[in-house]
Amino acid sequence: MAKQGLLLVVSGPSGCGKGTVCSRLIQNPAFLFSVSATTRQPRPGEIPDVSYHYITKERFLELVEQDGFLEYNRYATGDMYGTLKEETERKLASGCNLILEIDVNGARQIRARFPEAVLIMIAPPSMDELERRLRKRGTETEESIAKRLRRAGEELKEAPGYDYLVVNESGEEGLQKTADAIFAIVSAECCKPRRKQELLSALNITK
Ligand code: 5GP
Repeated sequence: MAKQGLLLVVSGPSGCGKGTVCSRLIQNPAFLFSVSATTRQPRPGEIPDVSYHYITKERFLELVEQDGFLEYNRYATGDMYGTLKEETERKLASGCNLILEIDVNGARQIRARFPEAVLIMIAPPSMDELERRLRKRGTETEESIAKRLRRAGEELKEAPGYDYLVVNESGEEGLQKTADAIFAIVSAECCKPRRKQELLSALNITK
């Protein structure tokens, strides 16, 4: 039987650094990133079909009609974001751990559909630091910053429904600590007996 990787959901308020954390994780060949579709415009430095698949609202709605998404959501800014079924199935089939960097609404949909998914919330060290990081991006309007900060509080309230909460401290050391915490989570998850059914049957252990 082919090795099945973990479905890892990584959420956290905009500006908490989860994108940078995910980029660090996928430097490890056992991890792949699921590229979402969005109707928002690319930010400077983002690469089409690597950061996101940038599509029109019409195309997004067409995909919804065709049941092309595992989950999708309209974010606080009004833009649509969704995880493409085809992309997820193809990448999971490779046996790698697949990272879905999605918001709390998407995470709820994934949990309902895949109870075995591992949900990780990334939190900033403080709300002041979150605001500082959003401003430092230099790509958001005041209106977008205000919406993202309001939304941040709402998202963090969902942390108790996640399996793990990791604080992403600032700087390179903080980033590496966060990535290491997630590698440790994955190692521990892989040792859960319910993920070892094949081994348990081979050892002739029955309930
Ligand atoms: P941003 O505009 O900062 O890239 O993303 C805004 C929010 O949308 C973030 O919380 C991000 O995690 C979330 N997001 C990105 N892709 C998806 C997706 O495919 N589905 C859902 N539900 N949320 C997503």
